[in-house]
Amino acid sequence: MDGHIAAAAASKLETTPVVAGLHLVATPIGNLADMTLRAIATLARAEVIACEDTRVSGRLKAAFGLNTPLTPYHEHNADRAGPGLIRRLKQGGIVALISDAGTPLLSDPGYRLVRAALAEGIPVIPVPGPSAALAALTASGLPTDRFLFAGFLPPKQKARREALSALADIRATLVIYESPGRLPASLRDMAECLGPREAAIARELTKLHEEIRRGPLDALAAGAESETWRGEIAVVVAPPDAAAAPDGAEIDALLRAALAGTGVRGAAAEVAAATGLARSGLYRRALELRAEDDGGDGA
Ligand code: SAM
Repeated sequence: MDGHIAAAAASKLETTPVVAGLHLVATPIGNLADMTLRAIATLARAEVIACEDTRVSGRLKAAFGLNTPLTPYHEHNADRAGPGLIRRLKQGGIVALISDAGTPLLSDPGYRLVRAALAEGIPVIPVPGPSAALAALTASGLPTDRFLFAGFLPPKQKARREALSALADIRATLVIYESPGRLPASLRDMAECLGPREAAIARELTKLHEEIRRGPLDALAAGAESETWRGEIAVVVAPPDAAAAPDGAEIDALLRAALAGTGVRGAAAEVAAATGLARSGLYRRALELRAEDDGGDGA
């Protein structure tokens, strides 16, 4: 690297301010060169780094010459480890939270710690960087204007199919994490429960064997059957076909059903979430329907 680039990077590392509080630090999802300067500066200046697996994060520390002590924080010890971290933070400490890879809290521990910190008035500071979800979404070639991060689907087929059916009507691109062993079965269920859609399988992103397969969901599912999958995988699925959007009568039926259980505002929000249609138009239509129905009751 050019000397002047190294000097500029070193100066950024020196001058990046790191305030007291809980820092949520994203780390690489495979390629160590994706570590940000701010992530290094924050981890270097933190009093302690809370991490999922101290062996995994020990390797990250070694790669960047960091000396900050590690302390385990994962879903099995969160109740025990959380209060100690909050005590340090209340005393004005700098605590960094990282996960094994990518952005903490995204299918990774940290949510409870963030809630506990906020409840104590402790600043929570994001230090953004790599995430498999956004890397897969942006390279998928599928719409990025509206997306839903669904994390991992349930491992058992019945629950997985129920989860997928609940996602089927959402007018957004779906981003799903999946283990290699379950990928073929999971893709099959996606094809059946979500219907014909474009999709992408993003495997080993940022790593040596990075691969992104794009195509119709049913074709990807059929192609995946005969293979042994390895590595880390994120699946991206396009929204349902807009041409299949509900017509006026279907929208009225959905709004009436929602109005039976909630007010006009709630009904509009419910139907907007289910159809992806604009809430304002649904609100106006829900008002009309309620007026009609009230009139029809002879009220
Ligand atoms: N917090 C991480 C993030 O921001 O992406 C994700 C942690 S989650 C426990 C791990 C899952 O993320 C993997 O099982 C896989 O589905 C996905 N993943 C992580 N790294 C990946 C990569 N390099 N390529 C594709 N998917 C990846």
